Amino acid sequence: MSTTSHVTTEKGLHDPWDREHLWHPYTSTINPLPTYKVESADGVRLRLSDGSELIDGMSSWWAVIHGYNHPRINDAAKHQIDTMSHVMFGGLTHDPAIELGKRLLSVAPTNMHNIFYADSGSVAIEVAMKMAVQAAVARSGSHEKTNFVTIRSGYHGDTWNAMSVCDPVTGMHGAFGSALPVRFFVPQPRSRFDGEWDESDIAPLEEMLAKHHHEIAAMILEPIVQGAGGMWFYHPQYLREVRRLCDSYGIYLIFDEIATGFWRTGRFFACEHAGVSPDIMTIGKGLTAGYLTSSAVMTTKDVADTISRGEAGVMMHGPTFMGNPLACAIAIASFDLLAEQDMARVIGHISDLMSECLAPAAEYDSVADVRVIGAIGVIEMKHPVDLGDFQKQCVTRGIWVRPFGRNVYIMPPYIIGDSDLRRLCAEILAIIR
Ligand SMILES: *Cc1c(COP(=O)(O)O)cnc(C)c1O
Repeated sequence: MSTTSHVTTEKGLHDPWDREHLWHPYTSTINPLPTYKVESADGVRLRLSDGSELIDGMSSWWAVIHGYNHPRINDAAKHQIDTMSHVMFGGLTHDPAIELGKRLLSVAPTNMHNIFYADSGSVAIEVAMKMAVQAAVARSGSHEKTNFVTIRSGYHGDTWNAMSVCDPVTGMHGAFGSALPVRFFVPQPRSRFDGEWDESDIAPLEEMLAKHHHEIAAMILEPIVQGAGGMWFYHPQYLREVRRLCDSYGIYLIFDEIATGFWRTGRFFACEHAGVSPDIMTIGKGLTAGYLTSSAVMTTKDVADTISRGEAGVMMHGPTFMGNPLACAIAIASFDLLAEQDMARVIGHISDLMSECLAPAAEYDSVADVRVIGAIGVIEMKHPVDLGDFQKQCVTRGIWVRPFGRNVYIMPPYIIGDSDLRRLCAEILAIIR
């Protein structure tokens, strides 16, 4: 295992050409934060260009669920490359798309029936929102029923419509002003996932829908875990109340499971915590285990057929890389790895160990809250974290974590061993202390 010896040799760790020419996520070209050069990755370790190794606490933004460089997924990818990497999905189909589809429906809420493959999480959100509008207009016969309602502190991606339903304060609304469509927002539920249900949490949505239901096609939200908008875990009863209200007002319900799917919260899909099924759901990130960009939108037969009976008569979307065979083959291999394990136990163990190791942080003066669900651990600080400084300390200590705002959070690959997880948590505590 690496020690901290590389700190003295930063040469080659930061690439000047990269700094001058390559945009990184949400980054200034004038004053960019440092980026660290990764040479290779294996298991839960990222190997930097100076030879040092970092324990990965991020699963590369929820995606790398089985760890890096997994032999089974590598084999599936190589086999598929040698067979056919890509073929258009218009007028053609193939076994990888069919096999993946069967697996998806076998784990999805039982009302899911039709699958639309897309190429990234944000595009899946665009597709889901278009589905909802097409179906709502077809069902109601009203072209007014085309807007959306969501809860604050959400995150749904960076494309235009996805941005419009992200949190209006922490999201990107400010920068785009009146160029973005205006959505309806209600406060996020404050009842904690593992706490008491406070029924006043649902009142704002009740009032909003009573007034505006005729303008609203769908409600969209991340079930149970709000990810990049605030790392908040809320009470399952909220979803049951949302389902009831959407049904009574004829509003479709979209669950964005892009971050929460594939066991991250301790269930295959987070909506299982509430026993509630959506009308439309989006998945991505963990779907392809971090190997390729791919996503899917699933919906009910009713929504799909309603769209097909509408004005356009078809679902109006068709990305170039739809149903990419290589991505599908990788997703199938990842699915099979999940199916071979007792995932409830695997995630339960990570959850217990993470709870134990992060718990001491609750006593620190700088910490506002510590919470864990499934394989997600969050330390909410009282003040915003200095990202550049924090990451420098992480690299010095041999871990990889990327906080945002006041949240320092980890969601490691599921294959992480106990000693690595203990060390990851201990180093974070040492930094924030
Ligand atoms: C990451 C994310 C998205 C967007 O996915 P991309 O693949 O980055 O476009 C959408 N919704 C949620 C909940 C996410 O976490």
